[in-house]
Amino acid sequence: GVEDREEWDAVVVGGGPGGSTLGALLAMQGHRVLILEKETFPRYQIGESLLPSTVHGVCKLTGVADELEKAGFTLKRGGTLRWGANPEPWTFSFAVSPKIASATSFAYQVERSKFDKILLDHAVKKGAEVRHQVTVDDVIDDGERVRGVTYTDADGTEREAYAKFVVDASGNGSRIHKRVGGTREYSEFFRSLALFGYYEGGKRLPAPNSGNILSAAFSSGWFWYIPLSPTLTSVGAVVRREDAARIQGDPETALQSLIDECPLVKDYLSDATRVTEGQYGRLRVRKDYSYHQTKFWRPGLVLIGDAACFVDPVFSSGVHLATYSALLAARSINSVMAGLVEEEPAFDEFEARYRREYGVFYEFLMSFYDMHVDEQSYFWSAKKVTKNAHTELESFVELVAGVSSAEFALDDAESAAVRMKSKAAEFASALDTMAADEEKGMVPLFKSAAVREAMQEGGQVQSRAFLGEALGADVPLFPGGLVASGDGMHWLEPEAK
Ligand code: FAD
Repeated sequence: GVEDREEWDAVVVGGGPGGSTLGALLAMQGHRVLILEKETFPRYQIGESLLPSTVHGVCKLTGVADELEKAGFTLKRGGTLRWGANPEPWTFSFAVSPKIASATSFAYQVERSKFDKILLDHAVKKGAEVRHQVTVDDVIDDGERVRGVTYTDADGTEREAYAKFVVDASGNGSRIHKRVGGTREYSEFFRSLALFGYYEGGKRLPAPNSGNILSAAFSSGWFWYIPLSPTLTSVGAVVRREDAARIQGDPETALQSLIDECPLVKDYLSDATRVTEGQYGRLRVRKDYSYHQTKFWRPGLVLIGDAACFVDPVFSSGVHLATYSALLAARSINSVMAGLVEEEPAFDEFEARYRREYGVFYEFLMSFYDMHVDEQSYFWSAKKVTKNAHTELESFVELVAGVSSAEFALDDAESAAVRMKSKAAEFASALDTMAADEEKGMVPLFKSAAVREAMQEGGQVQSRAFLGEALGADVPLFPGGLVASGDGMHWLEPEAK
């Protein structure tokens, strides 16, 4: 009967970095949170290279940063890339200059099975309840709002859980994202295929860059080479989606022939052996991973992380977008629950900021691809912004429309293409300046619009996490919008501070 039905403040579907971060941030405000996770942790996941704002921003706010520090993950100071016009690999650092390297200018390379478990266990420590081996099948929707979920538990029993808010954090394979309305729009520009595996004994970059991600462009695409431990390396090739049949038919031969095509990765793996047992023992393929849902929330339901959108593996934005969107959604739920803000403005703020951040990375990553020069290659010629003036950019323009008139001053695909092209050119020239004059350090790069915008919100979250109230009052990101509270946990009307 209604008396004994399960009632929560929030039910979170999926215990990945998005779901566990959100669960912790709600539980920290005393809310009753249930996280339902299909698998038993630790479980495998791809997405191992992180950005500083995740570690020092969102993870600092939840309080899990100290545990991450103890876990012994590889320190990632930046990236080393064979990419662009320069035939030699170049290195960027998260520190603006080696002389003023701060305590926050690094991230980690993580084994996701370990990282995700630390985050999920932390949510439990903060008071969330987690159930493993539980698959959410659908949402309970009374037409007015989403009221809960139906799920199948470990012994096959179908159950219901009611909640004031349901959060879909169940990743790219989400079964319930459609229930928010709108559609999942797939990207043509970022439409590629990734083939990846793990190696023992691969070479390392010389110190202090030994923990850097190495990204190497070659004729058929590009490789990531991520040092997960002193001996274990994650190696993945991103190639044309059109090669799917050949690659899936014989992934082993396909990966080896791609490695043979890329002298840098071939050299780094010359003494290495591929891991063939355990969670890293098989080669995996991912495709059709670049998309966005055209709506991110409706009353009672909100999408975060890969359930909502993902751009591309290049430049490690996935876990950032998942944890950042978790923070935004947590602020919305916390402030509605506390009676500070109505549901609609609270979630409109969530959606506008999330769209903006997605838009910023989308543009940044497009300029990243556009910058690489290889006119002979099918893969690289399809990664020119000018080749994508229409269908692709129309849906992008629709997504970011209205979120920030100043930054995304564009109302059609044509002007979006022009804008991105000039951004890509500015980015490429910043790299040239950096390469030509080592004295200048990272300054030219950080000054370029693409990088500056991509780092802005992450930097803001980091400052809030470190300084709290001492940072002073927040300013709205959008005219008429809300601001973050001093502790970073709520939204407030700008004058109500
Ligand atoms: P997930 O990590 O996918 O977690 C979702 C959870 O929900 C899972 O544990 C799943 O078991 C659970 N779940 C699913 N369905 C249900 C259900 N019905 N009921 C209950 N639970 C359910 N990102 C980076 O930051 N750095 C990288 O270097 C990087 N490389 C990438 C390379 C590739 C090839 C790809 C495709 C992605 C990469 N990413 C990277 C992106 C990264 O993998 C994701 O953005 C990130 O894992 C998203 O986190 P999440 O919490 O939204 O979802």
